[in-house]
Formats: sequence, structure tokens, C-alpha cells
Amino acid sequence: MTVLDRRRFLELCAAAALAPAAHASPRLRVVVAGAGIIGASVAWHLAKAGAQVTVIDREGPATHASRGSFAWINATWSKQPRAYHALNQAGVAGWKRLQPELKLPVRWGGSLEGNADATLAAELALRVAEQRDWGETTRLVERAELATLEPNVDFSALPRVVYSAHDGATDPVAATRVFLAASIALGARVDYPCELTGVALAAGRLRAVRTSRGDIPADRLVVATGAAADAGRRFADWDVPQRDEPGATAITTPMPRLIERVLWLPGVHLHQRDDGRIVLGAESGPPPGEAHALRLQAHPNDFPEREIALQHAERMRAAAQRFVPGLTALEFENVRVCWRPMPLDGYPVLGASPARPDVYLAVMHSGVTLAPVVGALAAQEILGDMVMDVLKDFRPARQFRASTGH
Ligand SMILES: Cc1cc2nc3c(=O)[nH]c(=O)nc-3n(C[C@H](O)[C@H](O)[C@H](O)COP(=O)(O)OP(=O)(O)OC[C@H]3O[C@@H](n4cnc5c(N)ncnc54)[C@H](O)[C@@H]3O)c2cc1C
Repeated sequence: MTVLDRRRFLELCAAAALAPAAHASPRLRVVVAGAGIIGASVAWHLAKAGAQVTVIDREGPATHASRGSFAWINATWSKQPRAYHALNQAGVAGWKRLQPELKLPVRWGGSLEGNADATLAAELALRVAEQRDWGETTRLVERAELATLEPNVDFSALPRVVYSAHDGATDPVAATRVFLAASIALGARVDYPCELTGVALAAGRLRAVRTSRGDIPADRLVVATGAAADAGRRFADWDVPQRDEPGATAITTPMPRLIERVLWLPGVHLHQRDDGRIVLGAESGPPPGEAHALRLQAHPNDFPEREIALQHAERMRAAAQRFVPGLTALEFENVRVCWRPMPLDGYPVLGASPARPDVYLAVMHSGVTLAPVVGALAAQEILGDMVMDVLKDFRPARQFRASTGH
């Protein structure tokens, strides 16, 4: 991947976000398929720039990955290499830029990543230094300061704790709804349940989008269908190789404040929203066993029974309680299993389909962090009929190499 100058990258992203509506061809008709956080942000940026936008979803807003996301907004050291890190930095900056305008529900305060693995000590020190070179304020924190940053957390088993002060976390369902409501206020339509089933072309150009509720005349289609792995092939005539992965999160009822920041701890991660709800996520994949493997084959979007969901939640609670002793009996409002939309190499897929120039693909993990910058850049490319250099490493036509990270 290309080494990018951070300041230039952030300038380009900010310029894209602030570009005037004059860039939009007069009332370009754009259908956005997928009302997760990516589709919602793309829709808002398009509507703001003057496009005639229709968002469709086969189920409803934030019903898939954006519902079960841990929703940490970050550009921490594991976001490698530099170009991907810079895109995530632009994502964090985008949340900070849009929060006052849209009243997005984000709690800032940074993150603390605790590490007990002595073999990683040298690498961690290098990564922290690299983060600083890349414009972050990341640093290793001493025990005395930890007691001030998180008085209710016991870090004694974790010799190295990295503090990344720029991070935050959101409520991804509420944030998706905010983007959609703001789109509607700008004249967009949001229809669901309404499934994208095909496209109608004339001389290779898009004429209409076919849906379960009839055709919608359209000049452009944005495919933001998340972990629907066949969507590229079906609608863009372009295969996006995906290795979508399951993940579970559990959300408690509102509680008195216990945690100030995002905590990334061995085996478990958690944060507490402004409304007092604690969100827990499991770092490891599904438990071993044939029964689990069989259940997952069908890509379920929910646990089969409340009891099984609560077993997962209890496992996360117990893992977290090793570090946060106050996490005793918890009442869970929601326990979700969701599929992370994950292109094969772990990086976002963004851009017009090489086979269908009017169909724009937007499929990615870390979609919560990236939503604002992706919305701004995608809208700019679609309406300005332009190709932005900052996205050149994330195009659908790249060579996909299998990887396990990001
Ligand atoms: C457990 C978990 C933890 C995560 N943690 C983080 C994190 O901490 N930070 C972070 O930045 N990211 C995180 N992610 C990733 C992030 O949540 C996703 O990248 C993001 O939510 C993707 O949003 P999306 O809009 O692309 O997809 P989705 O939210 O899945 O939305 C896609 C929508 O498309 C609709 N759809 C599918 N097919 C069709 C069709 N044919 N017609 C119409 N509609 C269709 C679906 O109904 C769905 O609503 C996490 C994900 C998971 C699952």
C-alpha cells in the first residue's frame, strides 16, 4: 500500500466532506441498497450534496452488522498499514466533525488496551512510537495514572497498557438512525422491507433498480449490503471475495458509571455509553464444537434462544469481571450475534464496479469508524464523477490476498 502524507489525506477527506452541492449533477437519482451505518452515511452525504436519494433495506435500518457492532471508533496501532491507518484517522476525524452538526451519540475519552503477553512487549513499544509518528497521542501508561483514568478497573495482571486518547465509541443503531433521519430531512426516501433483486441496464448504463417492491428509476446504485457476500456478483457483475466472520456483543441495562473509556483487555472488550449501558464484546471467535459450527453455517443473525444468548453474555461478563470487579450480576437487554462484512484481505472495498460503472460498491469492516469518511468520499466520487486518489488501495479491482487481520 502507498505511504500517504497524513495531513494531505485528512485535508482531502475534509475537502470532500465540505464540497458544495454544485458537484452533484442536477438531481442525480441514487438508490442506496443497505440501511446499515455505511448506507446511511453515504445516503446523507449524497442528499446533502443535492442528489435524489432512495435508501432501501430488505429488513430495516441497522438490523445486521450495525446492530451488533461493538462500535469502537479508532485508529489504533493494529490498523496497518499506513494507508489503512490514515483512512481510519480520517474516520475518527469525521465523527468529530459531524457530531455537533448531527448530534451523533459518541462518547469520547480514548481507549486503554491492556496486554499481558511478554513476547509482544518490544513490538508494542515500536507500534506506540509509530503511532506518534503518524499523528496520534498514543502512549504506554504507568499504574499510578491508570488508577486515575479508570479507578474501577484492576490492571495489575497487565504489565503494558496503551492509552489512545483520540478514540471513542458510539451507539451504532442510534447513529444509523440519526444519519437516516437527517437524510429524510434533506428529501431522501427510506423504504423497508424492500430487497434489491437486480438492475435494469440500457446500453450498459443503469436505468432502474429492481426491488421486491418494483422498479425504481435510478442513475446510480450504491451496494452497501454488508455481509451479503453474493451482492457484488449479483448487482455489480463483480465478485467481492469476502470472509465474513461472526461476532457477539452483549448490552446491559443502564448502570451507574463504572467505566470511563473503551477497554480492550485479554479475551474481552467493553465500554459504557453515556446512557449507562455497558457494551461487552468477545475477542475470541465462537466456542469450539460441532453444534456451534452447524448453527453458524446458516449465518444466523440472532441466537436461536435467549438462554444460549445469555450463556454467551455470561462468558463475556466473567472474562470482564477479572479486570472490573464491579461487574457482578448484570441484566442484559440485548445479546447479539452478527456477521462482520469482511473482504478477503480485511480492507474496505470502495468504488465503482469495473464491470458496471454506475454501481458503486461499499463493503467493509471497521465500518463504524469509517462511516463518516466513506460517506463523504463515496458521495464525492459518485456525484462528481471522479476517482479520488486517496482510495486507490481499496478498489474492487485489486488483487485480494487472504489475511486474518484488521
Ligand atoms: C461483533 C462486531 C463488532 C464490531 N466492532 C466494530 C468496532 O468496534 N468498530 C468498528 O469500526 N467496526 C466494528 N464492526 C464492524 C462494523 O460494525 C461494520 O463494518 C459495519 O456495521 C458495516 O456496516 P454496513 O452498513 O456495511 O453493513 P450492515 O450494518 O450489515 O448493513 C447492511 C444492510 O444491507 C441490507 N441488505 C443486505 N442485502 C440486501 C438486499 N439485497 N437488498 C436490500 N438490503 C439488503 C441488510 O438488511 C443490512 O441492513 C463490528 C462488527 C461486528 C459484527
